Amino acid sequence: MKTGAELTSLFRSHGLRVTPQRQAIFRLLHGNDTHPTVESLYDRARAEMPTISLKTVYQTVHDLEALGEVRVLDLGTGSVRVDPNVEDEHHHLVCVGCGRVRDLPVEFAGLRVPHKHRRGFTVDDVQVIFRGRCEECSKSR
Ligand SMILES: [Zn+2]
Ligand SMILES: [Zn+2]
Repeated sequence: MKTGAELTSLFRSHGLRVTPQRQAIFRLLHGNDTHPTVESLYDRARAEMPTISLKTVYQTVHDLEALGEVRVLDLGTGSVRVDPNVEDEHHHLVCVGCGRVRDLPVEFAGLRVPHKHRRGFTVDDVQVIFRGRCEECSKSR
């Protein structure tokens, strides 16, 4: 994902308004590898900017997604997760205990749909999710 300054000019070049609230979300997402939920972004943004609304956070995430600057993922943790790592193709490790999500920058070279199951289907994107328990959740069991 681009820096806050780059996103500000990108948004403006698309005729989108850039407010201090939106810039706070840019900052919170930049380099953030925790795959935050929209709600947790809202909580963190509100701590530094009490006037921000949940709707603004949703709208900003939606605009970032439309511009290809974040991906919004449903990893089966109950809420969608915002992933600003759109540069490096990766998969995910998902903890079923605490919902923690980690990037897995591994290529699965042999992973493809066998011809007999394809039936005309064209694959554009592959996402592999490994579910299990993170180190902390494994310890506390
Ligand atoms: Zn965990
Ligand atoms: Zn990710």
